[in-house]
Amino acid sequence: MKRLSPLWISPLLFSLPILVCLLLSQPVSNALAHYLLEQKLAEIELAMNERQQTLEKSIDDQMARFAFDCGEQDMTLLRDPWHYNRHIRLQGLKLASGKGCSSLGPDLPLIDASTLPDPEIDGFGLTATPPAFGTEQELVIFSKRGDQLAYWVLSNSWIRTIMEKPCSACFYIEFTPLVPGLARHKIFPRGEQAIKHEPGSESLSFTTPDNKMQQTLWSGLALRTYAQSLVYRGTFWVGGTLGALLLTGYWLLRNYRRSLKGLLHTGLARQEFVPFYQPVLDSRSQRVVGFEALLRWQRDDDVTAPGAFIAYAEQQGLILPMTEQLLDRVIADLPQLAPEQWVSVNLVAAHIEQPHLRNLLQHHDWPSPTRLTFELTEREPIMDIEAATSEISALQEKGYHFKLDDFGTGYGGFAYLQRLGIRQIKIDKMFVDTIGTDDPKRSLLDAIIAFGLESDMEMIAEGVETQAQVDYLAQQGVYLIQGYLYARPMPLPELLHWQQTRGGH
Ligand code: C2E
Ligand code: CA
Ligand code: CA
Repeated sequence: MKRLSPLWISPLLFSLPILVCLLLSQPVSNALAHYLLEQKLAEIELAMNERQQTLEKSIDDQMARFAFDCGEQDMTLLRDPWHYNRHIRLQGLKLASGKGCSSLGPDLPLIDASTLPDPEIDGFGLTATPPAFGTEQELVIFSKRGDQLAYWVLSNSWIRTIMEKPCSACFYIEFTPLVPGLARHKIFPRGEQAIKHEPGSESLSFTTPDNKMQQTLWSGLALRTYAQSLVYRGTFWVGGTLGALLLTGYWLLRNYRRSLKGLLHTGLARQEFVPFYQPVLDSRSQRVVGFEALLRWQRDDDVTAPGAFIAYAEQQGLILPMTEQLLDRVIADLPQLAPEQWVSVNLVAAHIEQPHLRNLLQHHDWPSPTRLTFELTEREPIMDIEAATSEISALQEKGYHFKLDDFGTGYGGFAYLQRLGIRQIKIDKMFVDTIGTDDPKRSLLDAIIAFGLESDMEMIAEGVETQAQVDYLAQQGVYLIQGYLYARPMPLPELLHWQQTRGGH
């Protein structure tokens, strides 16, 4: 499948959250409108409870102190700002004599006497200002004591202020008294009455704690339109921010994937690390005795040699899974090679400083340990020599062989041989290259070979490129040769073909 170009992916990623938000905007704005209605109802309920508490205190106090004669004390009480507060439009007294007074001074025809309960019964009641008064009817609380009565015309103007937010003309409320004496159908509407009859309008109700009044709040198209405008604005910001985050994430991931570490991880996941095999020949018989498995990173037709990534892979702790992948392939390939031929796999210290290699081999349960050998380089020092010694001897007991790679190029080579019980050495190309030259390292080559012969080590010369080098090495007693003179590292099919063309040797 053709991959989409980042130039296409970027705008798609950026606009995707905005599109999703736009698709969701309708249900979200409906939910938001419902939430705003709930919030408004809660706000009104809270304000009403607060008002009720204030009024109760004020009314109790006045009732205890009214002389019911409209004298100075009564007038002071009626006009006292603590009692004549923002919840009260007017308050007044009706005396037994039929006269009365109000906070404005004279008696006012505010009480609809026909709605008052039986005059025999004392106590509190609710009524309304007469409709004839021209303005909206207001709720009236009254308290009867015998033939005299005190009343408080409530002010509902606060409800307008509350209902103007967050948008004007978005709500409509009805206050329905639930008390006998004030007809049930008597309602006190506030706000846009048309909302109640709009298709799709929604309503919520609550009843005051004393069960005397029910409030029903409506909302409709205006609130939904307001919610939608909020959601569209939010869509722009939320969708835009999410889009920007997605885009940043995409580019970070892309850059990571393109970084060496990211590429190596992807390579591991795709099993791109494979062995190439370089033959080791006996120069006397020209027979192939074994192979070194050399790691290659194979991506499509592109093959990368380990020099480009192995040091970094080691540093990032990726060499262990790479070797694991390589070993899997080597073990799968081995049955296709002649039974007397071995394959040698390169290790790093970490493989034998912990039981990593041992566990891997145990997992494979490989039946011919002599056909699988390991190369331990002298270039990198082994930190935990104790652990390495015990790991190697455990594997040697099982029949596995170890070679000391790059012998003479590092330090501690001789000590490693002694302590780790290694019986095979690989003579580095650096020394082989000195053959036929007057390089002072040539004497070192002779010394290494002399040591190898003396201690009965098996020796393999690496990086052999000329027949003259083969001849010189043979004269010195080194017959196992690995190098371009005979063959380069090859993938298995090519190696099998190479062996066939040599007539099985
Ligand atoms: P090495 O273990 O010393 O492997 C021998 C290197 O010399 C290989 O390079 C091989 O291709 C190269 N070589 C062999 N004959 C000749 C020759 O005649 N002329 C020249 N010029 N070069 C020759 P390669 O495959 O690039 O590997 C380089 C190094 O990467 C290896 O050196 C080894 O240290 C490391 N390496 C390779 N595979 C693995 C692996 O699986 N694990 C670990 N830990 N290291 C590996
Ligand atoms: Ca090697
Ligand atoms: Ca080597």
